[in-house]
Amino acid sequence: MKVSSRSFAYAGLIKCEHCGCSVTAGTHKKKYIYYRCTASRGDCKPRLIREDRLEELLGELVRAVYIDADTAEWAIAALKESHTDEREYHSAQIAKLQGEITKLQTRLDSAYEDRVDGKIGDDYWERMSGKWRLQQMELRASIDRHEQANEVYFGSGLSLLRLAERAHDLWLSQPQTERRKLLDLLLLNCTFDGERLRGTYRKPFCWLAEGQLSSIWRGRRGLNPRPPA
Ligand SMILES: [Zn+2]
Repeated sequence: MKVSSRSFAYAGLIKCEHCGCSVTAGTHKKKYIYYRCTASRGDCKPRLIREDRLEELLGELVRAVYIDADTAEWAIAALKESHTDEREYHSAQIAKLQGEITKLQTRLDSAYEDRVDGKIGDDYWERMSGKWRLQQMELRASIDRHEQANEVYFGSGLSLLRLAERAHDLWLSQPQTERRKLLDLLLLNCTFDGERLRGTYRKPFCWLAEGQLSSIWRGRRGLNPRPPA
């Protein structure tokens, strides 16, 4: 492989397990890419690993994130069910907030009439109407947040499950830039000790990598937990 001045696909992704420094990339004899600890704290004797070997190890971390079709189906059904609860919660909050906006509007309307009738002074009107309008704006912002949460919740849960179903296929079929994006999505952090790579997964992938979701599902059906093939 010819090496140009490209940026390295997995630079900054991994930390050295011995000293905690970043694992950085370089080229050897302009022929191949290797990775090693920067040893910037000076107390580490880093070992090199070639990029192709590192990719094999990273691929194994991706392969551990696995969800079988049965578990995926069950998880999606559970997600739909919890989304109903979630939606009801947000709808109730939105109704409550809208009620408060209406209440403030009634207050504003009647204060306005009082001002026209000369029952309250301009100072009082300016001060109170400003305050109530500000409160209305804040309530509207809260409504927006509830509406967005409602939409995001189900969509993101579903796409994460779909992603888990095909994570390793994606890994095998995609170029390095996409592989790196996949790793960033799956991994919270990753360490290298010179031989082995250890990954800590983000939620919900940590449950999949540890087979927890499958265990719960099989437990419910009275089956024994089975590690992924
Ligand atoms: Zn180190």
